[in-house]
This record gives sequence, C-alpha cells and structure tokens, in this order.
Amino acid sequence: MTKNLVLIGYGGMGKRHLERLQNVSEINVRGIYDWDAEKTKSAQSAGYRTYTDYPEVLNDQAVDIVLIATPNDAHKQLAIDAMNAGKHVICEKPVTLSTSDFQDILDVATETKRCFMVDQNRRWDENYQMIKKLYDEHTLGQVYDIENRVQGSRGVPDDWRRTVEHGGGMIYDWCVHLLDRILMLKKNNRLVSVYADLSGALGHEVDDGFRIILRFDDHMRALLEVGTTNFIKLPEWYMSGSTGTAIIKDFDLHGEYVTLEGKLAQDAVPVEAGAGFTKTMAPRTDNSIKHHQLPQVETDVCDFYRNFVAWIDGKEEPLVKNSEVMWTLQVIQKIFESGRQNKVVFF
Ligand code: NAD
Repeated sequence: MTKNLVLIGYGGMGKRHLERLQNVSEINVRGIYDWDAEKTKSAQSAGYRTYTDYPEVLNDQAVDIVLIATPNDAHKQLAIDAMNAGKHVICEKPVTLSTSDFQDILDVATETKRCFMVDQNRRWDENYQMIKKLYDEHTLGQVYDIENRVQGSRGVPDDWRRTVEHGGGMIYDWCVHLLDRILMLKKNNRLVSVYADLSGALGHEVDDGFRIILRFDDHMRALLEVGTTNFIKLPEWYMSGSTGTAIIKDFDLHGEYVTLEGKLAQDAVPVEAGAGFTKTMAPRTDNSIKHHQLPQVETDVCDFYRNFVAWIDGKEEPLVKNSEVMWTLQVIQKIFESGRQNKVVFF
C-alpha cells in the first residue's frame, strides 16, 4: 500500500528527495515541515501542504514515514520523536555525530518496532557501481590499490557546514559516503588500520578536506581524498590490480580500463626520462595490453525508497543496514583520532 511521507527540512537535499520521489509510486509526499518561515512559504508556493510545527507532523495519523533532511546535529531528536510517535524514519547521512547517539536511535527503533534507514544514496552512483563490478568480477586480477576522491575549488559552503556544532566539515559531508562504499566493497576483508590527514587550509573550525589511507588484511590499500581547494582535479576513481588498471576521471564517467594481454614482457627497453633514463617505467608495447570501455551498469537510486517501503511491509531486508552505518561511524571516530594525533590507528 502507498505510504504517506513528510519531509523535514526543505533545503538542498530535501528538494532532491522530492524530485526523486516523483518516480516512486509506493510513496506519496503528504507534506513538508521546515522551521524556517521563508522555506515554508517557498514550499507552499511549490504546491506542498506544510505543517506549522513538528508536533503537528507527529500527531498526523496519516503520516507513515518521516524523512529527515536537516543539518546533521538535528537528526537524532527528530528521529527519536518520530519513532515514538509511530512513524518509520528515513534519515540523511551522517546519521549522527557519534556512535552512542546512533545507538540511542537504534534502541528506540527496537522498542517501537519502527523501520529506520539512512540515506547512503551514493551506493547507487554509476561510477561506484562500475568500480564494484570490475572489482567483484576480478577483471583487474588481485586489486591492491583503490583511490576515490572528490575535489572542488569553492571551499566549504558558507552555512552550517562550517560549524562543529552542526556537524560540519568534509569528513561528515563526504567521507561518510566514500568510506561507506569502500567498506561495502571490502566487506569480506578485515580493516587493519587507518591513517587520516585532515586539512585546515581555509582556517575554519572544521576540516576542509582530507586524505585517508585504509589498509585491509589482504594488503589492499584504499586512499580516500576530498579537497575543496583544488582548481585542477585528480581522477575520481583509480583502481589497480595484478593484471589491470581502471580510471574514472569525473562525474561524467570519462575513463577506461586497461588489462594485461598474455604474459608479462620481460624485455623492457630503457627509455629516456627527463635528465635520466628508466627501464622500470618504460611503457608497454601495444600488443601486451588492451584498452576497454568502462562496463555498463544499471542503477536507480529510487530503489532505495522502494526498498524502504518493502522493508516496512516485511517483503525485503533493508539495503542499507544499520549495522553497516554503525561500522562506518566507528571508523569515522578512528579517523578523527588519527587526524588529531597524526598517527596510524589499528583496529
Ligand atoms: P540545507 O541547509 O540546504 O537544508 C536544511 C533545511 O533544514 C533548512 O531549510 C533548514 O531550515 C531546515 N531545518 C534545520 N533544522 C530544522 C529542524 N530542527 N526542523 C525543521 N527544519 C529544520 O542542508 P542540506 O544540504 O539540504 O543538508 C541536509 C542534510 O542532508 C544533511 O544531513 C546533509 O548531510 C544531507 N545531505 C545529503 C546528501 C546526500 O547525497 N545524501 C547531499 C547533501 C546533503
């Protein structure tokens, strides 16, 4: 049966949810609550029913789902109040700013028997699904190196994202996605250690970027990187294995992968390189490698919402499990510890 949803927070991400929900027949958007009068007026102009306060949402018996898209520090109380009022909850990432706050939410979900799921929507990104396909199918042999980064040059947005109080900074903004995806990709491997270098180049009280190195028990290394001061961008994805390398340069999916054909040639001819020469870095002969287009994948982020409804109806297991979200938050705590102390933290 169609579920009625109320969106809390008519901001950037809230509006994106509304666009996507137009393609989800299982959910009817019943209304919007935003505590900002201007946002409320704007939601009314867009044709939505609005609520005057949160208790009005909670007391509306027709509401099945509350979708929380407010700044990060507001998620916890809104979620707990919603579940205590009998609503199921979809919550934006990062779910909370600490593992203990998340545990408080999970305790209420258990007590009230409500479904609670976090919007780890970037698992549905096409570029991630391409990398995952290459990884899962062992197309590049034994993978020992993955880099995933996003870079821009506009600094940290000049809003709540610059404040500690509201859970700002790029770790909570982007690392939550990049880390979640790598931990999903490597879910059969143990995470051994993490090293984090947080950037404070812009002088805000929160990090404006980071470089994080994760090491897994199969010796694979993952580099996660976010920068907000990069006028020239490095590739978004780079994955290297024993028999190939893949690159995805940007959001527009420019890239390729290259695989080894036949045996490793032993007869490298040294090449001139700058003021010296090199045999190690000599290029391959064209007949020993093959260039491929990135694999085709089918992905639809609306499946996230459909799965949530199917979970409520007892028809499917959740695609984003709370245990996965908790593990990501635990690793984030280690990332902050590593960044503060400038040391490798082991698990
Ligand atoms: P935003 O500042 O654009 O919008 C937040 C809205 O929430 C504002 O309209 C504000 O008035 C309202 N609000 C704040 N506190 C409230 C409260 N207690 N009750 C009701 N309304 C309240 O922020 P945003 O960029 O939309 O981010 C919102 C959330 O979405 C954050 O948690 C952020 O991390 C997340 N987000 C997720 C993605 C993603 O891809 N999953 C992308 C962007 C943002």
